[in-house]
Amino acid sequence: MQSTPLMLCFLCTSMLQTTILREVETKGVGLHTGVHSRLRLRPAPADTGIVFRRSDLDYFCIEAHGRNVARVSYATSLMKQGVLLSTTEHLLAAIYSCGIDNIYIDIDAIEVPILDGSAEPFMQLLDNAGTRKLRRKRRYLKVIKPVEVVEDGRRIGIYPADEFRVRCYVDFAHPLVGQQEVEMEVNPASFRQVLSRARTFCFESDIEPLRAMGLIRGGSLDNAIVLTREGMMNGPLRYADEFGRHKALDLIGDLALVGLPLLGHVEARKAGHSLHTQLVSRLLADRSSWEITAHEPLEEAPRELISARAAD
Ligand SMILES: [Zn+2]
Repeated sequence: MQSTPLMLCFLCTSMLQTTILREVETKGVGLHTGVHSRLRLRPAPADTGIVFRRSDLDYFCIEAHGRNVARVSYATSLMKQGVLLSTTEHLLAAIYSCGIDNIYIDIDAIEVPILDGSAEPFMQLLDNAGTRKLRRKRRYLKVIKPVEVVEDGRRIGIYPADEFRVRCYVDFAHPLVGQQEVEMEVNPASFRQVLSRARTFCFESDIEPLRAMGLIRGGSLDNAIVLTREGMMNGPLRYADEFGRHKALDLIGDLALVGLPLLGHVEARKAGHSLHTQLVSRLLADRSSWEITAHEPLEEAPRELISARAAD
């Protein structure tokens, strides 16, 4: 049935699912494989979700969903029926934070380009793509019971909340890093302002061992901050706490694998891709810990409106 404009005006348009308005493209080298790829974002119909398609393999679909998580050592990789797709987290962080519900990500190789190591180039791509509302209500995955994963002094948990909120704590014994913590409600504006420009990083001492493992073949001073014993090779930093911010960006990119917008509060303490994706799997497997709702998160209303309501 076709929705008439009259019917639509009864729905708050921010409750509607979205996709992108037009196709956009970028290309670049993969951080770990060193393989060059072309990446094209295309609009997708309602209830498609975020779906990668390997354009070099007859557009084989790999849904950005916890059930397709494969390897999670230094990046998050998805795999379905033996078809692999690597380093999904920065692109997914941008798409998920921008509230894009449905999108095809067509890519002609095994790994998403690293570009400058942050999510900013993907934000620019999404800006160029624009957003389009679809005539279908958005559904949220609302956390109703805590779920936690603890491992060797690292921990991550997700707790009930009326909005999507993250708190991310890192602690690296390095003069430029130390203890850093980011806490924020995740929405397009906060992601753009606080996290999107934070770049990936590695320690100089890890470069040779990582190369020996067949990783970071596409790594360079243009796409990662390299920390030396006392400082960094390629300053300046974009933010004094760029490392903590990047870890929060990675966390959001991995949480996108829940498959729906989240209403919940995530706390990560010295976590990483492995713990992030374990949390997603554990959450999805525990059907008593969440419900699907079409309710709007409270925080999408302006704060003045909320306090005015509270004062009534
Ligand atoms: Zn990252």
